[in-house]
Amino acid sequence: MSEPPVWHPFTPMTAHRREGVPVITDARGFTLIDAEGREYLDGISSLWCNLHGHRVPEIDAAVRTQLDRVAHSTLLGLECGPANELARRLVEITPPGLDRVFFSDSGSTAVEAALKICWQYHRQKPDPEPGRDLFVTVDNAYHGDTVGSVSVGSIKVFHDTFGPLLFNTRAVKSPAWTPHHGDRAAHRSAAFADLERTFREVGDRMAAFVVEPLVQGAAGILVHPPGYLRRVRAMSDEYGVPLVADEVAVGFCRTGSLFACEQEEVVPDLLCLAKGLTGGYLPLAATLASERIYEAFLGEPHEGRTFFHGHTFTGNALGCAAALASLDLLERDDSVGRAVDVGDRLRDRLTPLSDHPHVAQVRRKGTMVGIELVADREPLTPYPAERRTGHRVTRAARERGVVVRPLGDTVVLMPAPMMPPADVDRLVAVTIESIDEATR
Ligand code: PLP
Repeated sequence: MSEPPVWHPFTPMTAHRREGVPVITDARGFTLIDAEGREYLDGISSLWCNLHGHRVPEIDAAVRTQLDRVAHSTLLGLECGPANELARRLVEITPPGLDRVFFSDSGSTAVEAALKICWQYHRQKPDPEPGRDLFVTVDNAYHGDTVGSVSVGSIKVFHDTFGPLLFNTRAVKSPAWTPHHGDRAAHRSAAFADLERTFREVGDRMAAFVVEPLVQGAAGILVHPPGYLRRVRAMSDEYGVPLVADEVAVGFCRTGSLFACEQEEVVPDLLCLAKGLTGGYLPLAATLASERIYEAFLGEPHEGRTFFHGHTFTGNALGCAAALASLDLLERDDSVGRAVDVGDRLRDRLTPLSDHPHVAQVRRKGTMVGIELVADREPLTPYPAERRTGHRVTRAARERGVVVRPLGDTVVLMPAPMMPPADVDRLVAVTIESIDEATR
C-alpha cells in the first residue's frame, strides 16, 4: 500500500516515514491497539488529554445519546442545551468568580480567545486603558500554535522560526529549577525579583500576565516552586493586570487537584481549559472569564462592544455531552484522590532513576513527569541533538508495548489520572528499561 498522505504535527516526516510507526485502530481501557493487533499502554494519555481511559461506557453512551438528538448546531444566534449545561457545571467546579464561559475547540484557541478578550477589555472597560498593549509571559512558555498563542510562547525550537510574524511580548525568568541553573535558592530569588521588577517597569502597560500554573508542560515538565503563582496574583492585583491561567495541560487532576490554581488559592481573571475537558474524547475548549471582564462587552449592538470571535464548531454538542459525562465520572470516582495516588506511585517507582548516570533530573508534579537525559551528569553535558536520545527511548518503549514521548531529551510520562496501579508500575518499569537501553 502507498504511504498515507497525512502530514503529522510536530513530526520530522522523513524520519517518521523511514521508521514506520503503528497505526492505531482500536483501544480498550488504558491500552491502544494497532492494525496488527499489537497492544500499547497509553503512557502519555494520548497527548495529555485522556482521563478515564478509552471506550469508557458512560462517555460512549453520552455521546451516542447526543448523536440521536443533534451532533452540532451553531452558538452564533442560537443556544445549545449541552453547551448551556456544561457552562453551568464549569462555573460551579472552577475557582469562584469565574462566571462566564466562552467555548472553542482546542487549547490554542482557548488561549487565543483569552488574549483577544484582554486586549478588547482594556479598550472598552468603564475606565479604558488603550495603552495596555504588552502581554507578559514566563520564559519557555508554551500556550499553543496559533499565531497569538505562539506570540506568548518562547520555546526556541518551536517558536523561533515564526519570530517576525509575532506580536511583541516580554517574558519573565521562569522560577522552575533544573540542575543547569546552579544554586536552587539563588535561582528562585532571581526569578521572584525579575517578576517584581517587570511589574514595576511595565505593570501599567501590561494587557495581561499569562502563565501555565505550577507546571510548564511543553518546556519539559518544569515545576514552579510553591508561592510563585500566589506572588503573580498579588502583583497582578497591585498593577490592575488580568491574570490568564492556562490550565490546558495542568487542569483536570494532572497536578493532584482538580485545577492547579486551587493549590495556591488563586483565582485567575481568565482560565483556559481544553485537553481533559471531554475526558480526552473530543476537541472542545473553554475560556472562563470573571463577570467584571464579561461586563465590559455588554451594550447595544451599535455600540460595538461585541466580542467578534468564534469558530464554526464552538460549543459542539457531542463534545459538551462527552464533557458532562466526564465531569460526572470525575466526581463519582474520587478522581483527585486517585490522581494523588498515581502521583505518589510514580514518585516511588521512579526512585531508582535519581542516581542514574544519564539522568540529570526527574521532575514531577502529580501525574506529570519529565525525565531529563544527559550524556554526563558531572559536568552536565547534553547528548548531541542528532543522537535523538529521547526518541530512542520512545522507540525502545514502543517495542516493549508502551507509548511514551520525548520533548527533546526529556522523556515525558503522563499517565491518565485514573490509570490503575499495575499499569503505572509497568509504565515506569518499561521506561527505566528503555532509558537503560537508549543510553547504553
Ligand atoms: N496550553 C498549554 C499549556 C498546552 O500544554 C497546550 C498543548 O499542549 C496548549 C495550550 C495547546 O493546546 P492544543 O494542542 O489543544 O491547541
